[in-house]
Amino acid sequence: MECDLRLADATLIDGTGAPARRADVAVRGAEIVAVGDLTDVQAQRTFDCAGRVVAPGFIDVHSHSDWLVPGADAGAKVEPFLRQGMTTLVGGNCGFSPAPFSEASRRSQSESSRLIVDEPLELQWHDMAGFLDALDQDGVPLNVVELVGHGAIRSAVMGHLEARAPRADELAEMERLAAESLDAGCAGVSTGLGYAPGIFAQAEELAAVAGWAARADKLFTSHVRAYSRVSPVYTTDPEPVPHNVQALQEVMRAARAGGARLQLSHLIFVGRRTWPSCRQALAEIEREREAGLDVAFDAFPYTAGNTTAAVLFPPEMLPHLESILADPEALEGVKALGRSVFEQIGFYLEDVQIMHANAPAFDAYDGFFVGDAAKRAGMDTWEFYARMVIESRRQARVLNHTYSGHDGEEDALRSVLAHPLCTIETDTILTERGHQNPASYGTFPPRFPGCSTPTCARVSSGWRRRFAR
Ligand SMILES: [Zn+2]
Repeated sequence: MECDLRLADATLIDGTGAPARRADVAVRGAEIVAVGDLTDVQAQRTFDCAGRVVAPGFIDVHSHSDWLVPGADAGAKVEPFLRQGMTTLVGGNCGFSPAPFSEASRRSQSESSRLIVDEPLELQWHDMAGFLDALDQDGVPLNVVELVGHGAIRSAVMGHLEARAPRADELAEMERLAAESLDAGCAGVSTGLGYAPGIFAQAEELAAVAGWAARADKLFTSHVRAYSRVSPVYTTDPEPVPHNVQALQEVMRAARAGGARLQLSHLIFVGRRTWPSCRQALAEIEREREAGLDVAFDAFPYTAGNTTAAVLFPPEMLPHLESILADPEALEGVKALGRSVFEQIGFYLEDVQIMHANAPAFDAYDGFFVGDAAKRAGMDTWEFYARMVIESRRQARVLNHTYSGHDGEEDALRSVLAHPLCTIETDTILTERGHQNPASYGTFPPRFPGCSTPTCARVSSGWRRRFAR
């Protein structure tokens, strides 16, 4: 037998769940033609893989990089993913997909893209079919599986900051857009209940969204309403069921009501006092699974995660956030609420690291923790944070620490990652400017150069520089 390429003496993990074994792999063209002891196989090229692992390409099941892949320079942009061995990404997560949008939501949609890409994305499509066609036409460096975001759909029909429930005619139009997107090839419907506009969706709407996915036999995914034991979103008692566990219960109820398969997105436990609720959360998910719900979850292998700076504010503030934060008296109220909630969670503004402030006056603080940045700026920490949110037009990217642990104390993180229902993902924002999320580089390899532990949260900034040839 002959082949083009022989991967010799590898430790093979074949992706079937079988244990690792020593094997050779023969490749002809784009196909694996033999696996086993292939010493006698003639090969044009042989790679000695002794001491190395050969595995199928990794799938990042929770990505926001679908916003990065349209465009000619996509290959260079996503290079850190390719170097990790990632071959497929699942985009459109957290309610947030590049399509569909309406003329009315075009601006908010383009504005939202600033969270992921440095220049607002030029939206050259209108619907999901158009977006997927654009990917097909331009070619993609990674396979893309796309979810349609409930947030994008809600914005298209009702606007980005409409805090009320949809009317029946609006819900019907939302369902039409979802069905159209699923027909165009989307693999499921995502929700982002911590962000506008998903944050305004209540039980009835969520059950309807789960139903859209179920009717097309596709997946329902959720960034749930709270990831900390106390959240201002809830008025209920956090004892004995913490708000983050109530949030899981809420979407599992919605999935059951809608008859959908559910993926719980980035199962994290925010703040030192939330970590102990991990056991309760996992038990709750296992209980639902035993009762017949098809539910699983994903997580990134770090104790820090990226998000938008505006994520800290409760839904009732969102329609008027800028005027609230700019009013000194109102800001005092926000501070008081923030301090009280943070104390109950064990998470503080000092745990927030600025990835990219996304506002010229604040970009010099990229990479700094907010407390240090405020000191340098000679400002109060809350005042600094509020100004950054306003001046970035809510699109400052931050890396929050104390997610499911911190250095030397990772019990919650390890329980999640080791759970049989967990899939590893990045959830990363690969920022062109500023400080990087280490997940962009080190999620799939067991170790990344310069990173002594998987929880190392300091990868030097600037992926262009890092991989410049
Ligand atoms: Zn999310």
